[in-house]
Amino acid sequence: MKLMTNLSNYVLAALLTLSIANAAEWSYEEQKRWGSIEDHSQHEVPHIYPYAVCSIGQHQSPVDLATSQVSKRLNNLKFRYYADKPDFFNTGHAVQVNLSNDYQGELLVGKEAYPLIQLHFHEPSEHVIGTKIFPAELHFVHVRDDGKIAVLGVLLEIGKDNPVFQTILENTPPQGGELKQDSDVWLSITSLLPEKRDEYYTLAGSLTTPPCSEGVDWYVLTDTTEISETQLDRLKSFFSGNARLKQELNNRAIAKKK
Ligand SMILES: [Zn+2]
Repeated sequence: MKLMTNLSNYVLAALLTLSIANAAEWSYEEQKRWGSIEDHSQHEVPHIYPYAVCSIGQHQSPVDLATSQVSKRLNNLKFRYYADKPDFFNTGHAVQVNLSNDYQGELLVGKEAYPLIQLHFHEPSEHVIGTKIFPAELHFVHVRDDGKIAVLGVLLEIGKDNPVFQTILENTPPQGGELKQDSDVWLSITSLLPEKRDEYYTLAGSLTTPPCSEGVDWYVLTDTTEISETQLDRLKSFFSGNARLKQELNNRAIAKKK
């Protein structure tokens, strides 16, 4: 895989949630102490603490988006998400879809192209707006060849059935760590996006799961995608409460494109 040449194996493995040797186990229940989880295969600091940045990082995600300020100088987003026959993955922490290796779909931020490698769901939402927590949140994870990561967040609301989300739910394996490959199921990725795609919040943040790596550019759309109550219940039957709590902004500004 060409990405491996540039991006650290460790972070890429975390993004794809492949099992990697000696990766320390973590859970949402103990999220406040992710940073102090020890990797017992290691003997020296800092390697003993593979997730230290979860605790000491100053640019962590998710955050409360309520303090956003409208900016007129933000890039346009362009979604070149093609249909794909992906792999369906139960990571043990989330329902995830891994795009196929030759997938050409990408997110354009201005003129910068970010290839889409996977998407996954959190319940409830990780990003919040003031006191408003959404029923769920969808993350599209994009990784450029040089390792730069951009994540697009879509907040999910209760409404009508989403047929593409239904296909994902029906193809996700029941057991954590199980991957359904060669499913021969086509997914229309764009059908997971809301209709209005030109307004978003943006800030610099991190992965919201260990190793919580920073340097991630976040884009959270202001419009939401609808799923039905039944579909939310089905999602919860896989994972419920797989959302990291909001993190401190620490002087970061949240810009809003309108
Ligand atoms: Zn996520």
